[in-house]
Amino acid sequence: MQLPEAVTQVAAGIYQVQIPLPFALRIVNCYLLEDAGRWTVVDTGLHRPDAEAIWRAAFDALHIEPGDITQIVLTHMHPDHYGMAGWFQALTGAPVRMSAREAESALVTWVYADPRYALIDAQMHKGGVPQEIINLVNEGIESTRQMTFPHPKHIEHIAYGSTVRMGGRDFKAIHAPGHSDGLIMFYDEADKLMLSGDHVLMKITPNIGLWVDTEPQPLGRFMGSLRALQHLDVKLALPGHKALITDWGGRIGELLHHHDERLAKTLDAVKGGAVAFDVARALFNFERLSAHEMRFALVETLAHLEYLVGIGAVQQTDGAAWRFEQG
Ligand SMILES: [Zn+2]
Repeated sequence: MQLPEAVTQVAAGIYQVQIPLPFALRIVNCYLLEDAGRWTVVDTGLHRPDAEAIWRAAFDALHIEPGDITQIVLTHMHPDHYGMAGWFQALTGAPVRMSAREAESALVTWVYADPRYALIDAQMHKGGVPQEIINLVNEGIESTRQMTFPHPKHIEHIAYGSTVRMGGRDFKAIHAPGHSDGLIMFYDEADKLMLSGDHVLMKITPNIGLWVDTEPQPLGRFMGSLRALQHLDVKLALPGHKALITDWGGRIGELLHHHDERLAKTLDAVKGGAVAFDVARALFNFERLSAHEMRFALVETLAHLEYLVGIGAVQQTDGAAWRFEQG
């Protein structure tokens, strides 16, 4: 079978489809799983013409008719994963399936987005972000949102711990919070195969951010989840970005180590007192970041600061901007 460059068979009946992104991240990995001519889509890409073209080329090469797609499954609601779910549903009539928490976040973030902008503004002001950067960030959020239309009309919820049948395999839906509150990974115990979403990635560390509607302590929940999963028998993980993962436990060890180091640097950066934006600048190379990436740096920094406040290592005081000091 002649497959387009963006499509690779990665396991029996599972194809990875690499959808380009207009960010430094460059690509989101989506998956097509086949069960005797019936197909599941896992994650979708941002809705842009080049993404549509790649999906259509994948369908042609794999002889997939729209009616052969029986479900659209999302690991989480971030725009690069959720963005084309509604397009897929309009094309196929299939249900979009995700955790209840992610479905709620998708509604708040992408559908009824307006009330959220004031919250984002307030968070950035409290974080000490200069106004000109806030303006650029707001433009970026709206242009990303434009790439999530149309929205799915029919969403089904996947319960944590339930079994999801995809590609002739039984996957257990594992709740893996941190990168997103209701992120689900899918584990096929028979083949020790994991669809890991953005919970475990090679080369880059998953962004762990305190966004305006994130539940408390995303970093603590992320590290707790990683520790609980580190010894799970996973031979191959199929992630949402970058390379396939073959050393599951080893990679998780590296991610935990990264956050321990980052916490130590964060603690160091608040010496003498600082606002979150200054801490972020001490941790990230801002010269090289777009406004969009600066916001990611800010929320990632806030997640680390919140963790340190939680264990009593840092004191947070309120004012026009939050101020952090070693406690
Ligand atoms: Zn994500």
